[in-house]
Amino acid sequence: MIYLDYQATTPLAPEARDAMLPWLDGPDGTGFGNPHSAHRLGRQAAAAVDLAREQVAALFPPGGTVIFTGSATEAINLAMRGSAPVGDTRPVAVSAIEHAAVLDTARALGGPVDVLPVDGEGILDMTSLAQLRSGTRLVAVMQVNNEIGTIQPVGLAADAAHDAGALFLCDAVQGAGKLDAPAAADMIAVSAHKLHGPKGIGALWVRDGLAIEPIITGGGQEQGLRSGTLSPALCAGFGAAASLSIKERISAGQHVETLWKRLVDLLPGWTVNGSTAHRWFGNCNIRREGLDVARLMSDVRDVCFSAGSACASGSGRPSHVLKAIGLDVASAKSSVRFGFGRYTDIAAIDHAAALIREAAARQD
Ligand code: PLP
Repeated sequence: MIYLDYQATTPLAPEARDAMLPWLDGPDGTGFGNPHSAHRLGRQAAAAVDLAREQVAALFPPGGTVIFTGSATEAINLAMRGSAPVGDTRPVAVSAIEHAAVLDTARALGGPVDVLPVDGEGILDMTSLAQLRSGTRLVAVMQVNNEIGTIQPVGLAADAAHDAGALFLCDAVQGAGKLDAPAAADMIAVSAHKLHGPKGIGALWVRDGLAIEPIITGGGQEQGLRSGTLSPALCAGFGAAASLSIKERISAGQHVETLWKRLVDLLPGWTVNGSTAHRWFGNCNIRREGLDVARLMSDVRDVCFSAGSACASGSGRPSHVLKAIGLDVASAKSSVRFGFGRYTDIAAIDHAAALIREAAARQD
């Protein structure tokens, strides 16, 4: 089995697994304590959470607070809903290629939602940012798109948001640990399972001085911003994975660029969706006109890859991202997404490309 779906989720790093195991230990071990308890077992678990918080904080700019959440989706909800009083219906602006976590939350807020277009390369159109509607309270632009891998000008977007008097939220789920942190953002959302950590934990970074309100109330954990008992195991796994991704950032970037070039070379006649320059090379969204993607996926069962976005796959709807870059329905439906990273080797790319090429040729 060849796993080429790194944008959907990444394999757990052995280092992250090792960091987690002691905090799953019970009933005879000592790692099962509640990190919010005052006794010794609780304090040990709290120390693991503190260390993890420091490790995860290294993914972000200096001068902010890390709030652990259950996912990036929850972090995004906390940012978008918690940064204004309940019922505030001032306008928000979001890029057209945001993840559903941002798009659907923006719509659920109940006020006007301005959708900022991207160009044919999948990069934010800056002219629309210069014309933000007056009274816009929040602008959200992602760092790296999950479907086509394009890197967004988040520094410029943050400046434009601030010039308009708005806060800037960056969904850095696909860029954290890979690129520089979006330094000018007010809030940043990340997810552990996209950087070789465990599923079930994410984080929201909030710039110092920005007051937000909780969307989950209860025991008052996470400085009152996210009630609920933290999992020391998930925190520890997230922390170890974050440290590792920072340490291996340069080599990981070079590695995926080599793999990307190889894959594109091995699929002649296919067209890459999105910029071939401003991208995270661990993503290759590529199309072959007339391709029946469902048939390809059923013919090539030994390769795990995705038809468009993992979130939209199965829905039968063409991807909103491919539509936003100007693809018609037929072209969007003939696109597939390959995602790879630290644990993918060149032999896997060669093997997968051969299987895909042969199966696609059988459709001619
Ligand atoms: N934002 C982006 C860009 C994503 O790719 C994803 C997951 O696919 C999310 C948000 C949601 O992350 P989570 O699975 O942690 O809720």
